[in-house]
Amino acid sequence: MGKLLIVGTVAFDAIETPFGKTDKILGGAATYIGMSASYFGLDAGIISVVGGDFPEKYLQMLRDRNIDLTGVEVVKEGKTFFWSGKYDYNLNTRDTLITDLNVLADFNPVVPENYEDCDFLMLGNLHPAVQMSVINQIPNRPKLVVLDTMNFWMDNTMDELMEVIAKIDVITINDEEARQLSGEYSLVKAAQKIHAMGPKYVVIKKGENGALLFNNGDAFFAPALPLEEVFDPTGAGDTFAGGFIGYLASTQDISFENMKRAVIYGSNFASFCVEKFGIERMENLNRDEVQQRLKQFKELTQFEIELTH
Ligand code: AMP
Repeated sequence: MGKLLIVGTVAFDAIETPFGKTDKILGGAATYIGMSASYFGLDAGIISVVGGDFPEKYLQMLRDRNIDLTGVEVVKEGKTFFWSGKYDYNLNTRDTLITDLNVLADFNPVVPENYEDCDFLMLGNLHPAVQMSVINQIPNRPKLVVLDTMNFWMDNTMDELMEVIAKIDVITINDEEARQLSGEYSLVKAAQKIHAMGPKYVVIKKGENGALLFNNGDAFFAPALPLEEVFDPTGAGDTFAGGFIGYLASTQDISFENMKRAVIYGSNFASFCVEKFGIERMENLNRDEVQQRLKQFKELTQFEIELTH
């Protein structure tokens, strides 16, 4: 079993979709990643920052999932990172309405001593300087470093982001972000350009159109499960990332073949995440449901065909 360190936002989100609207609820990249990865019963810890306005019950909920929060700083006089987004009927695209960095603006992450020897590092979506600081504080390079980011950081901190991207093994981004990062419309060409920036593995998430995994010349595609209920896509990307790295850390196998299974686990968890607002569905997920959906993934993608020459 690997030791997993996660860095990312722990946040308040306000979300609007065609199916409903929420006030400030629990969100944040590290929250979704942690909840998803916790399925594997790993030794996992989060590095993040929240303000004095952040309810203790949210932190307790994460601790109850065996997630170590030693690395979560509470700035008593500060306000928690707040993000607000709106989706229209095409749930694959969203508009960010508000990004209030608040305590994230001056965050200096500190890697807890007991995670300095982590062998899996998940650099969730936040300021690339924070991601870089965490890399630099770990004395021996972890077995695998995965990075997730988004357009906000490409728009505002591209140079720092490029420096981090050069140091990691796997990048997980969505199709729009892959195009922005590479300047290429074709996702195949985009992946080639991103490989050249550093990461050996490129995962491109396409929302309800599935996810692609590239490793130089090789590619693998996982569909998204066709769902009856899609309510709120927020956190699907982070939930995917948590399932992806959680599976790799629990199996300790970082081969391309095993990454294919990790992509399926990621897609599996993301399919649950979108069924309810925020973390609601992930909070009540059980092992049987996950295994049942893995079976559905298999049935959806397996076929026999005879090749004629
Ligand atoms: P996802 O839908 O997986 O891309 O991630 C949604 C989560 O990302 C939300 O819970 C937000 O709190 C968080 N988020 C939104 N914008 C940012 C940002 N600029 N930096 C870090 N986290 C963010």
